Amino acid sequence: MPTDLLRQVWGFDGFRPGQLEIVETVADGRDVLAIMPTGGGKSLCYQLPALMRDGVTVVISPLIALMRDQVRALREAGVAAGALTSGNTQDETDAVFQALSQGELKMLYMAPERLASGGTVNLLRGAGVTAIAVDEAHCVSQWGHDFRPDYLRIGDLKRALNVPLAAFTATADAETRAEIVTRLFDGAEPVTYLRGFDRPNIRLTFQPKDSPRKQLLSFVAARRGQSGIVYCASRARTESLADALNADGHSAAAYHAGMEAGPRRDVEARFQREDGLIVVATVAFGMGIDKPDIRWVLHSDLPKSIESYYQEIGRAGRDGDPAETLTLYGPDDIRFRRTQIDEGLADGPRKAADHARLNALLGLAESTGCRRRKLLGYFGEELEQDCGNCDICLHPPKLFDATEAVRKALSAMLRTGEWFGSGHLIDILTGNVTDKVRDRGHDQLPTFGVGRDYGRTQWQAIFRQMMGLDLCRPDPERHGALFLTDAAHPVLRGEESVTLRHDATLRAKGGNVIKT
Ligand code: ADP
Ligand code: ZN
Repeated sequence: MPTDLLRQVWGFDGFRPGQLEIVETVADGRDVLAIMPTGGGKSLCYQLPALMRDGVTVVISPLIALMRDQVRALREAGVAAGALTSGNTQDETDAVFQALSQGELKMLYMAPERLASGGTVNLLRGAGVTAIAVDEAHCVSQWGHDFRPDYLRIGDLKRALNVPLAAFTATADAETRAEIVTRLFDGAEPVTYLRGFDRPNIRLTFQPKDSPRKQLLSFVAARRGQSGIVYCASRARTESLADALNADGHSAAAYHAGMEAGPRRDVEARFQREDGLIVVATVAFGMGIDKPDIRWVLHSDLPKSIESYYQEIGRAGRDGDPAETLTLYGPDDIRFRRTQIDEGLADGPRKAADHARLNALLGLAESTGCRRRKLLGYFGEELEQDCGNCDICLHPPKLFDATEAVRKALSAMLRTGEWFGSGHLIDILTGNVTDKVRDRGHDQLPTFGVGRDYGRTQWQAIFRQMMGLDLCRPDPERHGALFLTDAAHPVLRGEESVTLRHDATLRAKGGNVIKT
């Protein structure tokens, strides 16, 4: 029966992974939480059951344009659907009320703001509503980036109507999930589905940032004529890197939110239309871009969280053909992202959550095992074996026991009062007597010169990985002076060991290889 409807109403031959199970469970009238990536086909998972069930399904969504599109498409397919949004004309609204009171609607789309009026709830109570579907359910999370206060009213609506609720989202981290369960389901565990986050055709690669311009040019040199996106953390950089690409004979355009709407639309249209255009953009680019053959995505700066990373690389290879990604990261990126969080307007708990999301990405960047396993693991999906399509699987890095080195670095940090950045700490460790070292008497410290067995660049790699493992953090109040996190103490006390990677760029530069 679901398969027949799928063919008749939507004209699709089969279900996407996970869809049928969700459709059947929702149609069964059970509470469901479904976590599927963007583009995974969530809407079908509440639309189809609505046709299988008696009565009206209310769909709550924060995206008015999307609701209108869906209602239009459903109507064209012969489904009695209507929407109550602020974009309605009075006539449209009257028609919806009319259809509702006569029991002629199957699906009623509604903006969450509607729930603020008691009248809406009363209206729905008498309208034969038999199910609620909530799109973008993560909007109920106060720690998330898309919090919509009116989403908090959905729990009341469910109680008032006493009907099953199916919630959908692409945001899968554990805190958000827990918050959805508390607020939408009164804490009663719904049947939960988490499917389809793997995009096996996308190759995952990270590289320490050395010279981003050079790294970018050498990456694209091997991919001439392919469409790709370069993501940058600043507007100025989108312009300078686009210039560099054009000077090198590529076809590139900058894109950022500071540009006028007109030129922005031009870039979007060119990207859709032309083969082989490279868009060098801030995160402003990508929403609503639906180009299946983007062959690569390069992050010239570290994204702000593991969710952003996943979403941004996910724009590559929608056609299922092989696609490449490369993410560059260095200590400056870590500092920049931490400062961005610390200096933001969010409250304490939210800042802590943002640091944790950044940490998850840094952990991925510094991973010593299969990156895809780690990435999917974050979303709660387990990969049976290593992926064979990430840089670690393809070129397993050399690892070394860095416990001693890390302890020396942490101890140098402690003994100088957590007042200095990595440059000065490396001077101390390598026994480099600078004016600053002499003035502060740091050449008298017991840690002075204890790290001579590694060179400066090697120490930089060690510090970067230490920051990546969140053993230490730059303090924005002290010009980025490094301080120890709680995770550092067990290492310092000798209770935990630390394994680090040989640094790819250091090897390439011919620096003396870290002893193993
Ligand atoms: P999202 O999960 O991002 O809300 P949508 O529900 O918008 O995704 O679906 C993404 C696209 O996939 C839509 O164009 C939709 O028509 C298409 N789609 C969904 N399910 C199927 C299917 N079973 N077969 C073919 N196309 C599908
Ligand atoms: Zn792998």
